[in-house]
Amino acid sequence: MRQQIVAGNWKMNTTLEEGLELTKSILEKVEKPRGLVVVAPPLTHLRDVGKMLKVRKYFHLAAQNCYQEEKGAFTGEVSANMLASVGTEFVIIGHSERRLYFKEKNDVLAAKVNVTLARGMRPIFCCGEPLHIREVDTHVGYVAKQLKAGLFHLKEEDFRKVVIAYEPIWAIGTGRTASSLQAQEMHHAIRVLVAKKYGKAVADDTTILYGGSCNAQNAPEIFSQPDVDGGLIGGASLKADDFAAIIAALK
Ligand code: PEP
Repeated sequence: MRQQIVAGNWKMNTTLEEGLELTKSILEKVEKPRGLVVVAPPLTHLRDVGKMLKVRKYFHLAAQNCYQEEKGAFTGEVSANMLASVGTEFVIIGHSERRLYFKEKNDVLAAKVNVTLARGMRPIFCCGEPLHIREVDTHVGYVAKQLKAGLFHLKEEDFRKVVIAYEPIWAIGTGRTASSLQAQEMHHAIRVLVAKKYGKAVADDTTILYGGSCNAQNAPEIFSQPDVDGGLIGGASLKADDFAAIIAALK
């Protein structure tokens, strides 16, 4: 089902105490969101933040990553099963920081999507082009490749559980946002691509979020675009007032 969603990716920020304080403030400031609110704290906070979110309808818990193997000798890694066992409902997969710093390639990302779904959680699959690709106007093809490699092996039933997040890399943490028209153009292209693979009904039902320097000021215009179903928010999700204002911009 196509849903309006605002998801906050805290990345590697906040101690447990700060994270619980932030969660409390978010819960206080967000009364009746017009869509789902997803919070992705650091791994160490999942269980406690999840318990706080659970008392409120519309709030959901996400992990920022998971390992692609089920279990075993992978020191330092965390499996989808472990995440599910502490109440995680969504897993962010393929964030550009994971692709860049941890060299996560398409085959690994596809495997992460599979283990996430197998454990009953929903992937938030990130895609997006770097600046040099945008500058030579090949961004639609670039993102199409990412989606084909990471998601299009899925059966329709599983694909329907996926949330796609379009995050142009040049806009992440840079203060430089895609214009609402640039976002709409890519979101529409993604929907057309999904329609070609799974049919129009599935494409119309697919949730596609925008991410990249989204804030309280620009969210209303970006979210007003017909193919934009909300946002994946980094920096601004660490301030309860800003995050609440972005949530209020959902249509
Ligand atoms: C992100 O990292 O997913 C993101 C969108 O970050 P920011 O909002 O800080 O650009």
